[in-house]
Amino acid sequence: MDFAYLPEDDAFRAELRGWLDENLPKFFAEYGDDGTADAGGVGIMGAMDRRKAWQRRLNEGRWAAITWPTEWGGRDATVMQSVIYSEEMARAKTPGIFNANGIWQIGPMIIRWGTDEQKEKWVSGILSAEQHWCQGFSEPEAGSDLANLRTSAIEDDGDYVLNGQKIWISTAHVADWGLFLVRTDPGAIERGAKHEGITALIVDMHTPGIECRPIKDIAGDEMFNEVFFTNARVPVANRLGDEGAGWQVAMGTLGHERVGTAGLTIGMKADLEAMVNAARSVNPAALDDPDLRDRIARAYTHIEYTRLLNHRALSKILKGEPNWPEVPIAKLQWSYLAQTLAELALDLLGPAGLFAKGGPDAIDGGTWNRLYVFQRYTSIGAGTTEVQKNVIADRAIGMPRR
Ligand SMILES: Cc1cc2nc3c(=O)[nH]c(=O)nc-3n(C[C@H](O)[C@H](O)[C@H](O)COP(=O)(O)OP(=O)(O)OC[C@H]3O[C@@H](n4cnc5c(N)ncnc54)[C@H](O)[C@@H]3O)c2cc1C
Repeated sequence: MDFAYLPEDDAFRAELRGWLDENLPKFFAEYGDDGTADAGGVGIMGAMDRRKAWQRRLNEGRWAAITWPTEWGGRDATVMQSVIYSEEMARAKTPGIFNANGIWQIGPMIIRWGTDEQKEKWVSGILSAEQHWCQGFSEPEAGSDLANLRTSAIEDDGDYVLNGQKIWISTAHVADWGLFLVRTDPGAIERGAKHEGITALIVDMHTPGIECRPIKDIAGDEMFNEVFFTNARVPVANRLGDEGAGWQVAMGTLGHERVGTAGLTIGMKADLEAMVNAARSVNPAALDDPDLRDRIARAYTHIEYTRLLNHRALSKILKGEPNWPEVPIAKLQWSYLAQTLAELALDLLGPAGLFAKGGPDAIDGGTWNRLYVFQRYTSIGAGTTEVQKNVIADRAIGMPRR
């Protein structure tokens, strides 16, 4: 690939960097710099107000949803500009945003599949952080095998009547709206056509008959939920796309997620440097340990290798070629590195790594301690490791199926 940037890409970077240089210090002065940036370092639920304020600030500068069309408040950013955006945000250690699901997945889907009325009703609230959105796909028997979902939606007098259960739905208990996949053709699974008869519905989370039960995660947060539907009525007018077209809507949504995870490794070099700096101050002897030195070097090498892999994926996307196997391999690399770095961080910090967030002695706000347990999710979310390996075996290596 050609590593040189186009003049318009350089101008894009300079404009963003200028905006961040001016606005980020002001934001931190007002809301505090907890030093944990966007690495998922603090519990997302504890940081919602701060995230809301940051997304609003970004939106004022038209930096909240750069890939959206200009007419909907975006910048029509190219793939290359999205990468530059991720690089600059990681460099500046910006806070997380309030409506990540809405900005990265649901908003683009409403813009693509929604009617004019639906776009008018929902798009601006996602962008301005007025409303919080969740994404309700997974069920107890439908995770990797998502098309096995069974939450039913039966039409009755201008509404769909929903019954069933979702699980692992992030932030559903604080969401105003959610994009849910439901089954409008209950016989499709038994007919052997499970991808048919799935419909995408926009659900008001305050509707009677919806109950969210938060699940405590391994890090002690209550971030994701079971969601139960008992005769919950959702207007037919809230359907996104045609009845039975939910699989196409979902695949578009997950497509955005997959590209997004490839970009997540961008901040890891800074994370590695930060944990080495923290060790230098609280546990300097660790940096003389030959085994730890070897692990630091190996992690650095993997980060560099993943950066080049992402460039290759980007190059293929720019040429309009299929982005596999690079994108599934980059997803695997992200999971591997997120977990490897979190384990390395605690070993580097020694006893000081045991201080959890909230305590006065916690290192870097307790980021490393929390990531040690929380990063387990990276081999499950956005496609499990085993499923990614299946994709690579099938499409890239062409291994025979049993
Ligand atoms: C932090 C977090 C947040 C989440 N947020 C959301 C959300 O907001 N909305 C939402 O809808 N979902 C969400 N999820 C759910 C997530 O999408 C699912 O956990 C994921 O799709 C896996 O499904 P599952 O948990 O049912 O596991 P399963 O699919 O049951 O998998 C269990 C194990 O079997 C393996 N496996 C499954 N199929 C195969 C196969 N064919 N070959 C080999 N191995 C296989 C898997 O790799 C895994 O190890 C979230 C999950 C996490 C961890």
